[in-house]
Amino acid sequence: MITRPKGTYDLLKEDSIIYNNLLGAWIEICDLNNYKFIKTPTFEASSLFHRGVGETTDIVTKETYDFKDRGNRDITLRPEGTAGIVRAIIENKLYANTNNYLKYYYYGPMFRYERPQSGRFREFNQLGIEVFGNVSPYVDAEVINLGIKYFNSLKIDNVTIKINNLGSKEDREKYKKVLVEYLKKHEDELCEDCKTRLETNPLRALDCKKDADKEFFKNMPKISDYISDEGKKYFEELLSNLEALDIEYEIDEKLVRGLDYYDYAVFEYVTSDERLAGASTICGGGRYNNLVKNLGGPDLAGVGFAVGYERLATIVKSLDLVDVNETIDVYIAPIDAKNISDALIIGTDLRDAGFKCEIDYRDTNFKNKMSTASKMNAAYAVIIGEEELKDYSVVLKDLKTKEEKKISINNLADELYINF
Ligand code: ATP
Ligand code: MG
Repeated sequence: MITRPKGTYDLLKEDSIIYNNLLGAWIEICDLNNYKFIKTPTFEASSLFHRGVGETTDIVTKETYDFKDRGNRDITLRPEGTAGIVRAIIENKLYANTNNYLKYYYYGPMFRYERPQSGRFREFNQLGIEVFGNVSPYVDAEVINLGIKYFNSLKIDNVTIKINNLGSKEDREKYKKVLVEYLKKHEDELCEDCKTRLETNPLRALDCKKDADKEFFKNMPKISDYISDEGKKYFEELLSNLEALDIEYEIDEKLVRGLDYYDYAVFEYVTSDERLAGASTICGGGRYNNLVKNLGGPDLAGVGFAVGYERLATIVKSLDLVDVNETIDVYIAPIDAKNISDALIIGTDLRDAGFKCEIDYRDTNFKNKMSTASKMNAAYAVIIGEEELKDYSVVLKDLKTKEEKKISINNLADELYINF
């Protein structure tokens, strides 16, 4: 038997109901906030992610699916959504002819070669938004708020926002020097990963899980001491906008995020759901002021976030937040096989009238048909029999009260409208 690849899953049963439900709510909230839907390819030239996400990030060094296609091109399955959207904006010159911000939302599969565990897959889904235009602490607040409203619309409220200010590129350069000096002094104490990070991506040492409890870690230089007045003012404005919107946040000086492109505000939405221990971050994002320029586009700043769909779905499922019971309005049950064609016509007409119908085409006994109707949680059965057809009628049965009445086919839809 051929089985699915490690780290992937089939979306089945109630999980597929939850998926449609969460996606529907996502589309609704994005539309309400006037974001436009964008869909980019699931694979791109490898160089896009090397330049976009960053050569030295964990994602690019360890997690991408890279391959040569039959034309010998270097291709990567996308590990995240932002780089592809930025490429699309540049390539299609979407920045021309806009007077205001460019606002996009997306959803779809992402691919990362990670060790599969709870909340961590090799093919997973993200729901995200991106806004491009001038840097503004109001736009950042709008973006963060959209995430909160989305989680609230799903009735999830045990979510906190962790936020940090990474300053500008210049601020980070200054900070990096001091940080590297400090880390070098403690080199023997660093975990193997951080020893490499020291050379490649020292900021990542800040959120190292392995070193977090060590003494040297607690006295690490703070990035906030190296941020310019302008950067500080910007961050304070953002925080006061969050307060104005009643959004609770927690400043986390160790939050740096896994992608290279962030400036100023970075944030994560974290849940206290125990089932997600080790994968409790359900959404991450931040501002990136140089990504569009670095990928060859105009000087356009961006901000956005991505929700990890599977982690969100786990919470929704564990808290029973989505009704996963499937029901149908009407089950069409012909008593005899020779009335199946009448069933087809009557059922199709009822669907046209807006009722969710299942039509039984089987040549099986009537008892089986009624038992299927009840397994499908049908509210009504339309029973089609020779006797009633003689005067162009059927029997409508209320499957809850068991009450039956004979009804002319012409009046069937109207009768159902009254009852629903
Ligand atoms: P983590 O620290 O958990 O590895 P990350 O910083 O790599 O997260 P991002 O690149 O910011 O994650 O992606 C945004 C969100 O996508 C994460 O908050 C998480 O919910 C989800 N996510 C990331 N990687 C995976 C994965 N392998 N499987 C399922 N969801 C994931
Ligand atoms: Mg990761």
